[in-house]
Amino acid sequence: MHARIFLYKIHAQHHQLGEGQGWLLEFKDYFVPSLPVLIIGGVLFYWLVSPAAGISFAAGCFLYASAAAYAHQVQHENPDLCFWLPRPVHHLHHNGKMWHHNFGILVDFWDRVFGTYKKVEYNRERKRYPVSSYFRIKWF
Ligand SMILES: [Zn+2]
Ligand SMILES: [Zn+2]
Repeated sequence: MHARIFLYKIHAQHHQLGEGQGWLLEFKDYFVPSLPVLIIGGVLFYWLVSPAAGISFAAGCFLYASAAAYAHQVQHENPDLCFWLPRPVHHLHHNGKMWHHNFGILVDFWDRVFGTYKKVEYNRERKRYPVSSYFRIKWF
């Protein structure tokens, strides 16, 4: 998306807008392209390992897309709620207008593996958010 190869225009528009589309549209953007992997992997695990393994693989794809959509939306709306990361990398990716760093959305693991992680100071507001604030995102 940053190498002008795949989805470049759409991603550049996303950078200009600087906001998420809402959980449902984000989920669609992650889930639909993963369907071939979900189906092929699910069928292979189902037949080669066990039905439980196949169903678990497919459920894992679904849950990962759901969680990534949530992580993306929440980092655009209130990155302080991204408690599972030391720094909300996607927020920093946008805020710092990064074109070569912090590509992660749900996790920063792959940025660390591929050397694209950039440690940027981020002062998380140290306040306790009520549980309801985690649900106050744009869902649709
Ligand atoms: Zn974004
Ligand atoms: Zn980007």
